Amino acid sequence: METAIAKLPDAFGVNVFSDAVMQNRLPQDVYQRFVEVRRGDAELTVSIADALAGAMKEWALEKGATHYCHWFQPMTGLTAEKHESFISPTADGKSVMEFSGKELIKGEPDASSFPSGGLRATFEARGYTAWDCTSSVFIKGRTMYIPCAFCSYTGMALDKKTPLLRSMDAISRQVVRVLRALGVKDVNKVTATLGPEQEYFLVDQHFFQKRLDLMLAGRTLFGAPSPRGQELEDHYFGTLHERIAAFMHEVNTELWKLGVSAKIQHNEVAPAQYELAPVFTSVNIATDHNQLTMETLQKVAQRHGFVCLLHEKPFVGVNGSGKHNNWSLMTDTGHNLLDPGQTPHDNMVFLIFLCAVIRAVDKYANVLRASVANTGNECRLGANEAPPTIISIFLGEQLTEIFEQLAAGGANSSKQSGPLRLGISTLPPLPKDSTDRNRTSPFAFTGNKFEFRMVGSSQSCAGPAFVINTIVADVLNEIAAELEQADDVRAAVQKILQKIATDHARIVFNGDNYCHEWVQEAARRGLPNIASTIDSIETLLEEENMKLFERNRVLSRTELEARTEILLENYIRTIHIEACTTLHMAKRQILPACVKYAGKLAAAIVSVQSAGGQADSQKKMLEKVCGLSDELHGAIDKLDEKVKGACNNKSTLEKARYSRQDIIPQMNAVRKASDELEMVVDADLWPLPTYAEMLFII
Ligand code: ADP
Ligand code: MG
Repeated sequence: METAIAKLPDAFGVNVFSDAVMQNRLPQDVYQRFVEVRRGDAELTVSIADALAGAMKEWALEKGATHYCHWFQPMTGLTAEKHESFISPTADGKSVMEFSGKELIKGEPDASSFPSGGLRATFEARGYTAWDCTSSVFIKGRTMYIPCAFCSYTGMALDKKTPLLRSMDAISRQVVRVLRALGVKDVNKVTATLGPEQEYFLVDQHFFQKRLDLMLAGRTLFGAPSPRGQELEDHYFGTLHERIAAFMHEVNTELWKLGVSAKIQHNEVAPAQYELAPVFTSVNIATDHNQLTMETLQKVAQRHGFVCLLHEKPFVGVNGSGKHNNWSLMTDTGHNLLDPGQTPHDNMVFLIFLCAVIRAVDKYANVLRASVANTGNECRLGANEAPPTIISIFLGEQLTEIFEQLAAGGANSSKQSGPLRLGISTLPPLPKDSTDRNRTSPFAFTGNKFEFRMVGSSQSCAGPAFVINTIVADVLNEIAAELEQADDVRAAVQKILQKIATDHARIVFNGDNYCHEWVQEAARRGLPNIASTIDSIETLLEEENMKLFERNRVLSRTELEARTEILLENYIRTIHIEACTTLHMAKRQILPACVKYAGKLAAAIVSVQSAGGQADSQKKMLEKVCGLSDELHGAIDKLDEKVKGACNNKSTLEKARYSRQDIIPQMNAVRKASDELEMVVDADLWPLPTYAEMLFII
């Protein structure tokens, strides 16, 4: 055991072409130059790229790699890879292993089968992958992976990474401006940081294979509630089952080798639900690492006879899965800008960034909401134990009080020397734990970072992260402009803080977000509550929001329109798959089981009666089963019609609306009849594993 623990530090990152590896293998000047390139301070020249590629190839071959691939994140939300071997045939019929700087920097995959939202006609299918040197090259299996951005022939972003990288630039630029204006001169770059807590379910493979809905849609489309659910609240942080612990250990080991710092693991609230969280890092790397985490969870689960479900709501009536995105800002001098600190100067810096986030979240609540809009989240948000679709911010008691003082302080600022006249007094140190009590808030300040809890478990972190970066950058741009003009910076800061605290008081809510009264209270405050994924996606096209992304150079108008189109198309396709799966299962598995059971009951009635009995209970049971079967049959017919009717809609938007308004309710009607049948049909005849089995049998 001891040796295993002693080996761990050595195993971490063994498959990563890390800085340590580079320092070992590259000439000093090449490494130095690369660091400058990565920082954005120098151009990548052909000779540096060639030197890097050569060292990478040697390293990869030593590790047994035969191929390399440009690894990118198209708009599917998944990752994509096309492997190419290092082999290059020579004239004498042999071969050499080759990998050039050119091959490192740029790839040209055929892009025609990736969603582009009309950005790229099929006849100009070429897309480019470009090396993202800020995220490390790594080896998985026999392939060397090169993290890349992916764009069209004309340079339009076709992926999740490009806008993320652009947003990181935007926020760094604006933070540095604000810091300069505040007199902080030694910061040249700021990194948005992210620690995504990944929730997931594990279901035994045997059950999974008997559920077409889990296999095709990732969630159960049928299933009566288990007699026992999560009401005992005994699963959260409970002892890890041996089989689960073994699975987690292997996941961790695989992730550590890839340099992913898997750190926290525990049972989650729902039965069969778990969580894994890494140590935070830059948003870009954290996003790459989260993709690797999701992939590893699924791969290792198979080896352990499980299937890992990443869907936001695999089981109705049971807690769904999210991906809490912990976000902050870190300077290149190692300072966390959302750390309240203990000195007046830090307080001013902290309060400016805190208030900037508050204003950004209130002003662009719809954009933030849209960043988590997908079909999975539509089932989750507003349901059991998930944040509602209203965006609000939890600040905690202490900070809220300060926030209120900021607003009040300005009212008679010339006379008052209250506790928050900047530079006069200090902010009381905030104990981290006291701020983290509210688990129901969608956007919570948790000590030295914000935690965005609406993100769906299956989503790429990139979307929500680039939105947070962009909206905060936008507000910081306003603030920077004001401070740069000011003669008295302190007074200007005071004024800005007071204005934000006054204008955006409505977004702060420390109460229970899951209760009914909050919905009404939020409406009174004028906070948007957009439950529909489609309505939410549509808000992206509002002029103000298009300008937001353009102004910050994160997405052009065309790129944003294309993305919106992709999101809607994805919605339509997902619902279509769910509807077809519902029909398939209902017609070919559930109805036949009901027919069989009805036959069994009918036979029982005949035989009981021939033995001289009344068969009253058998008759009642038969009546119930036949009545519900008729209901199910009718619902299936209607769903069939609705699915066929989908093609009558013209625009993508119309189709999406139709999916939501016509298809989903009819799917629910089929499910309702079936779930009632499940409660009355002989368990031996029921064709699907039940909720109780899937959630409680490990
Ligand atoms: P919770 O109490 O919300 O469940 P966890 O301890 O499970 O929190 O996870 C907290 C996450 O927040 C971790 O992934 C951690 O690395 C991350 N985190 C901590 N500090 C920062 C920061 N400054 N920026 C971004 N993420 C952070
Ligand atoms: Mg947690």
